[in-house]
Amino acid sequence: MSDPSPREPRPRCYRCFWPAALCWCDSLPVVETATRFVVLMHPKEFKREKAGTGRLTHLCLPNSEIQVGVAFDRHPVVQRLLTDPGHEVVLLYPGSTAVNLADPPTDGWPPSDRQLVVVVLDATWSCARKMLKLSPSLQRLPRGMFSPSAPSRFVIKQQPWAGCLSTLESVYEVIRALNQRGVEATPEPERLLAVFDRMQQLQIAFARDPDQGGYRRGEYSKPADRRGFRGHSARRRANFFRGPEGAANDRGAAG
Ligand SMILES: [Zn+2]
Repeated sequence: MSDPSPREPRPRCYRCFWPAALCWCDSLPVVETATRFVVLMHPKEFKREKAGTGRLTHLCLPNSEIQVGVAFDRHPVVQRLLTDPGHEVVLLYPGSTAVNLADPPTDGWPPSDRQLVVVVLDATWSCARKMLKLSPSLQRLPRGMFSPSAPSRFVIKQQPWAGCLSTLESVYEVIRALNQRGVEATPEPERLLAVFDRMQQLQIAFARDPDQGGYRRGEYSKPADRRGFRGHSARRRANFFRGPEGAANDRGAAG
């Protein structure tokens, strides 16, 4: 009897965190935006999903950054972003007062003399609620939402309900909505979806490969084949990213 020999650690790219042989860095599109995207990443997401869509989003968007944490009221970098008088900051999160980002700017929002900053929570739904609960300065932010152009394409991490999108998909939807609103003129935001599709194909290939330890056995079910949540849970979840009518009963995570 002998211990199994430890696995040789596979070389990894420390920018995209994928195995070096599959490094994304040279093939990612550069999606220029006037809007600054701030991805607030829950530490769990950072640890488990280092190579996840929050990171890929940041690598594709020069005008973006990732900040890791749970409670942000004492996070100096995030607080500087939130309190800068030259910034118009909006939190991508459902709520009865959330602005539909795709609406024509008849409401004068966003003010043209300020830098639009979109804050995105990169976490599971329950972790995102916790981040908000522990960060009153985020609770006070105006909220923005969109009506998704398609249900989540995410088959990798099972999404609890159709309106719940990955960070990469959400940022694509925001850019698409802001293009529609006329405050952003980003060419071909669909390039982000191409990255997303490629990531999924790679992960599905991994899942099918018996030599890949650490990846799940068995295939992912398609979103359409999954059972949805029911009752109260379904109602709460169904509000996420819907239009204002859908969110009318949502008191927000802090409520
Ligand atoms: Zn890389």
